[in-house]
Amino acid sequence: MMRTEKNTALQKLARLSPRQWERLCDGCARCCLHKIEFEDTGEIVYTGIACRYLDQHSCRCRVYEDRTRLVPTCCRLAPDNLGEVYFMPETCAYRLLAQAQELAPWHPLVSGDAESVHRAGMSVRGRVVSESDVDTDDWPAYVIDWVQ
Ligand code: SF4
Ligand code: SF4
Repeated sequence: MMRTEKNTALQKLARLSPRQWERLCDGCARCCLHKIEFEDTGEIVYTGIACRYLDQHSCRCRVYEDRTRLVPTCCRLAPDNLGEVYFMPETCAYRLLAQAQELAPWHPLVSGDAESVHRAGMSVRGRVVSESDVDTDDWPAYVIDWVQ
């Protein structure tokens, strides 16, 4: 991708209103899964272990307004940090748009249906466990390959 293309994409995102910005989220909750980063290689892998504050059916955060205080590692995406979204899931709408790519057909803004992300199997609904139920020593056993 050309650098100018990416800069234009980021400039467009920076002009969105807060409401438009929030509506870009596809509701997949993939970003609410814990990741493991290997120190020697820098590789990051996702686990099927969700943050304790995730409502696993709606795939929405139960403490959204207070999330970064309660979970210091929770990422608050904003137009000015989108240049570094390499750690977000490849399907994340913010990441796609920051890279000047199109939203997927199952994105609620494209389909017009908030359930389409779940029907397409792109959300974490029904596929994960809560961090409250897993000992951190056991996290490596929960590595998944359906989020990258
Ligand atoms: S991965 Fe991106 S699109 Fe999906 S819930 Fe997280 S912020 Fe929203
Ligand atoms: S605090 Fe909320 S938004 Fe942040 S990781 Fe947990 S469930 Fe997701």
